[in-house]
Amino acid sequence: MKLNEIYSTNETVISYEVFPPKSEPENLLKEIQILAKHNPAFISLTYGAGGGENKSFSLMKEIKDKNINIMPHFTCITSTRENLEENINQFTKLGIENILALRGDIPQDKSLMKHDFHYAYELVMFLKEKTNLSAGVAGYPEGHIESPDLKTDIEYLKKKVDAGADAIFTQLFFENGFFFDYVNRVRDAKITVPVIAGIMPVISENQVNKMISMANISIPKKLKNGLEKYKDKDLLEFGIDFATEQCLNLIKNNVKGLHFYTLNKSYSTNNILNNLKKENLL
Ligand code: FAD
Repeated sequence: MKLNEIYSTNETVISYEVFPPKSEPENLLKEIQILAKHNPAFISLTYGAGGGENKSFSLMKEIKDKNINIMPHFTCITSTRENLEENINQFTKLGIENILALRGDIPQDKSLMKHDFHYAYELVMFLKEKTNLSAGVAGYPEGHIESPDLKTDIEYLKKKVDAGADAIFTQLFFENGFFFDYVNRVRDAKITVPVIAGIMPVISENQVNKMISMANISIPKKLKNGLEKYKDKDLLEFGIDFATEQCLNLIKNNVKGLHFYTLNKSYSTNNILNNLKKENLL
């Protein structure tokens, strides 16, 4: 099912992000099995970003064999058109219908950049012109780290949507106010495609620090206090409660979809979704 059809429902759509593990995928497949009971519309699979790319196609097949749709990510800044076409051939063979079209981070070693694509909107244009694939794109409620300001960020987002993107998947955020403000700015720019909220349950202080070092992500006082007060299992439980509250508020404010950054672990996301079910919100 393509993205626009997936998000045409009035119910909140659940999806997960995982990354290709460096070792054998058995553990990840077990975690996916646990999360499958919440009927995700699809699982998105990161590209590069520390994962083992070359194992991705076999992993995609194993996930598809569990009757779960896959949305592969694809970053274009270090790819040639030829690489992209090879990937698209594999996606088509696997019956994949949606791709998360990304530029990717500029590599430290600039010689790795291929110059066929410079920005994500060019990848979206390519997908729309040459394939039947539906394209999701990334959005940044607090602004992309390279953006001069929030207004410019939305102008470039609009370029991706005008090129044919069907949904926007946000970077994680810990304060819903940023998401709501972002959606307002997106709508003011006459962008009408669904904006899907990226939710990352807090698992450890290191994980949070790593995220904020790489992107513009604010830490609200409540989360800061929790990170100071709790450790290990207590922090995990705090993270579940924190994300549950975030999701409850998002659903009550009619979010179209929740996309969970699972970090390949089911425990927190599973508990958050169980909590939402108890509230009859899913
Ligand atoms: P773009 O939309 O191309 O934007 C990049 C920057 O260029 C922005 O600052 C934008 O404002 C600016 N810009 C855009 N168009 C123009 C233009 N025409 N002229 C001048 N400036 C312009 N990374 C990975 O490596 N692998 C992944 O799997 C991955 N998955 C992700 C999933 C999600 C949901 C998100 C939010 C991010 C993900 N990333 C991933 C990170 C992403 O690759 C980086 O944030 C990257 O730096 C930007 O990618 P983009 O597609 O948003 O780029």
